[in-house]
Amino acid sequence: MNGAAPITDEMTIPRMRMIERLRDHYKINDERVLEAMLKLPRHIFVPEAIKSQAYNDNALPISSGQTISQPFIVARMTELLELNGDEKVLEIGAGSGYQTAVLASLSRRVYAIERLPNLAAEVEIKINSLGFTNVVLKAGDGTDGWDTYRPYDAMLVAAGGPEVPLPLVEQLKIGGRLVIPIGTDQRKQDLYRVVRSKTGYSQQNFGPCSFVPLIGKHGWS
Ligand code: SAH
Repeated sequence: MNGAAPITDEMTIPRMRMIERLRDHYKINDERVLEAMLKLPRHIFVPEAIKSQAYNDNALPISSGQTISQPFIVARMTELLELNGDEKVLEIGAGSGYQTAVLASLSRRVYAIERLPNLAAEVEIKINSLGFTNVVLKAGDGTDGWDTYRPYDAMLVAAGGPEVPLPLVEQLKIGGRLVIPIGTDQRKQDLYRVVRSKTGYSQQNFGPCSFVPLIGKHGWS
């Protein structure tokens, strides 16, 4: 584990309720994911005015018209990556930085890309304030991947595109996992897990979801 130590604060009870809901209602089974989410102060990643809603069972608005994903979606996508702590992970669409912190708690190193520079700058401050030293962040279009640090064991895309961006698959290790929402509608997608093989890749559909659009060269224009 990296970064955040267990915390006891005014949000401990809503945070414990969130974890119970993830385990009992949403059937999240990966105890490492649940433990990481129990330790992280999700409320520092939401705007001050709606801090009291941080542990609710829904997505919330952040700045620049973007959203912090529903806790269940964060847990589900992370669980699908099957992290054991030793991975190099690429995250596209850092947004609030909450998912970045979850990934950083569960892997060796996270390379995170956020399209909007003001959001990227805020993520940097929050991640540092929590004591994470294993996150490298940049502002830019993540649909091209991040060639410098390839190959990756795992990738998580937190915005919905029309198809799987090929540069991402190319930058995955053989056996590497990519979790991404894909859909022909800009606001409605299905959650896919793509696994790279020697000859190409296979993909499995994990059902409907709704993300903000993935905007970029290999996403929406
Ligand atoms: N998991 C994040 C979700 C943030 S919303 C959270 O819970 O906070 C998705 C983010 O993807 C937005 O911040 C948006 O700006 C970003 N995004 C959209 N297209 C992108 C692209 N091509 N490259 C990088 N980030 C992108």
